[in-house]
Amino acid sequence: MERKTVSTCPFCGVGCGIVVHTRDDRITWVDDDPANPSSRGMLCVKGRFGIPFVQHPDRLTTPLVRRDGELQPASWDEALDLVAERLLDYRGAFGSFASAKATNEDAFVQQKFVRLVMGTNNIDHCTRLCHSPSVEAMLVQLGSGATSNSYIDYEEASCLVVVGCDPDSNHPVIASRMRKAVDDYGTKLVVVNPKRIDLASRADVFLQPAPGTDVALSNGMARAILDEGLEDRGFIAARTEGFEAWRAVVMERTVEEYAQACGVDPHALRLAARLYARPPARRGLPADERPGSCLAWGMGITQHTHGTDNAHALINLALLAGHLGRPGCGISPLRGQNNVQGCGDAGCIPDSLPGYQPYRDDVAARFEEAWHAGIPREPGIKATDMVERIATGEIRAMYIVGENPLLSEPNLAHAGDLFRRLDFLVVQDLFLHETAELADVVLPACSFAEKDGTFTNSERRVQRVRQAVPRVGQSRADWEIICDLARRMAPHVGVDPGQFAYRSAADVFAEMAWLTPQLRGISYERLEREGGIQWPCPSPDHPGTRYLYAESFPRGLGKFVPVRQAAPAAELPDADYPLILNTGRVLYHWHGGTLTRRVQALLDQVSEVPVTIHPGDAERLGIADGDEVVVRSRRGRLTGRAVVTDAVRAGSVFVPFVKLRESAANFLTNNAYDEPSRIPEYKVCAVRVEKKRPRDSALTGGQPTASRDR
Ligand code: SF4
Repeated sequence: MERKTVSTCPFCGVGCGIVVHTRDDRITWVDDDPANPSSRGMLCVKGRFGIPFVQHPDRLTTPLVRRDGELQPASWDEALDLVAERLLDYRGAFGSFASAKATNEDAFVQQKFVRLVMGTNNIDHCTRLCHSPSVEAMLVQLGSGATSNSYIDYEEASCLVVVGCDPDSNHPVIASRMRKAVDDYGTKLVVVNPKRIDLASRADVFLQPAPGTDVALSNGMARAILDEGLEDRGFIAARTEGFEAWRAVVMERTVEEYAQACGVDPHALRLAARLYARPPARRGLPADERPGSCLAWGMGITQHTHGTDNAHALINLALLAGHLGRPGCGISPLRGQNNVQGCGDAGCIPDSLPGYQPYRDDVAARFEEAWHAGIPREPGIKATDMVERIATGEIRAMYIVGENPLLSEPNLAHAGDLFRRLDFLVVQDLFLHETAELADVVLPACSFAEKDGTFTNSERRVQRVRQAVPRVGQSRADWEIICDLARRMAPHVGVDPGQFAYRSAADVFAEMAWLTPQLRGISYERLEREGGIQWPCPSPDHPGTRYLYAESFPRGLGKFVPVRQAAPAAELPDADYPLILNTGRVLYHWHGGTLTRRVQALLDQVSEVPVTIHPGDAERLGIADGDEVVVRSRRGRLTGRAVVTDAVRAGSVFVPFVKLRESAANFLTNNAYDEPSRIPEYKVCAVRVEKKRPRDSALTGGQPTASRDR
């Protein structure tokens, strides 16, 4: 029988609408959904062709329990009884990673289990590795950690400034909407990236700063705006605080000095500043509307040891130019995974409750009243610190849902050593990936196509995910597994098992919406009737919110935060490791590749790790385009295929972090962290590159991650 199921793409944070076509319970193809307002009938190659991972023969079909050192099939009762018994011993030394690929409902139940049953706020997710500095900075300066605008604002902006991200590879449908703005409406485009990305070919200004100099670049733009009197004085006076102290810091250097610090042309820096602050009106802009600019950034800004400073410097620009709270304006930290916004909204972060609500007594009391038990009030440990604190014994047991930290953590050899030291590790996922291979118990979860739920995309739009095919093997929805586990443990810790007796995903969502003010007006009934709804949506008659900050900021006034350029990175090139490694993504793979390596159509496009290197460096090293090369850092090595192009700066190499043929960039990256976000410095470390020699034939990747034998 043929069926069509309208759902949401499970890959990136754009959240495109998809239609899953099935015949006799097999997925036959995936089409776009023209009615979806986020994607408007567009899909990228991953959304259209990447879904076969759902029914791949590698899927986990039964629970696995380690016996005699080997993971062996077990019944659900056997596996969950074991997990329940062991985790009760580790309350107080426990941490959990949630999944930004799972649904809001999965995330909400997981944080409830961690807080209520395990008695800790040690829960976090991959936002720690992508946009935690953006969230930290936005919370300090504005009082909210969300993208302020919608994708439609890119099409209505008069200028787009795209910093430290590559939308064509990472958010392709957003890239299409940006290109539409440039091509159809004459929107000005400024691209800032150490790598010449595809979008740069359409840019009015392309700035290619030295890696790690983002504060200098943003402060240079601010200085240029101030020099030319282009700031929005009315906005600054009415809506902000801290301007004079911030201005004094920016005025410490000239535009020329800032430009020199980041290695760009000062005239181009001034032009970029002019276009951002006072763009010429795009075609078709109503005469009574002030031209606006959107500022979008990615992990090129955040994944540095001064990532939070970088984000502050960009938000200062938005406050200076007054480009917030109107159509065609706003700030967008482009979110990586499909539900990274929702996973944070649902409370899977260590420093706040669902809806980013603080651990204040009055707030906590509402949760305790609803859940009939106490919850911890101390902030928990952040994801990267949970891993580091395995070494100190503060974390001895972990429960990891839908994440593969042994591909996503920096310095993988170091991370692997730490994970092997855990007393007890539970992994719940679709595949037996690198982290699952180390687990004591592996629990088979079902994919987005086998369950109901919701994802929240980068423009805060809550959208339905619908079951399209039967579950593979004995797999279950993440929230169902956790509820089953929680009911086994609850009586031992004074919690009512009925707190985990939801009948459906809709039941879970209803509880989350009730406890989360910005979601309170959203229900499954409304989502069925109206399609996706953007939060804040505080009441059932509220239409949802296209852009934030029209009248005020959640903290009251927007706050300028002075920042100065620090050392570009924790590790810089030297005689032994003379090149800078920059990591990122490729269009055809999804992050570490756990899903897309199982899609032949995508693997056919990129089957080896590309190592992009400047022609001058390649010539000096005797490397030709297409040569097999070895990249080494102080922490590990990988083998890849040289791509020689001047798209990267001389002295830099770019390697995506997908794992292919046992090679992965995170064997090389540095576990140095930003404060206060604790994001690792994925974007800069020192490496050397050599042409692979015959005697290197044993080099198939980074440091091996051996299984635990217990
Ligand atoms: Fe999926 Fe993102 Fe591609 Fe849209 S742009 S189809 S959400 S991967």
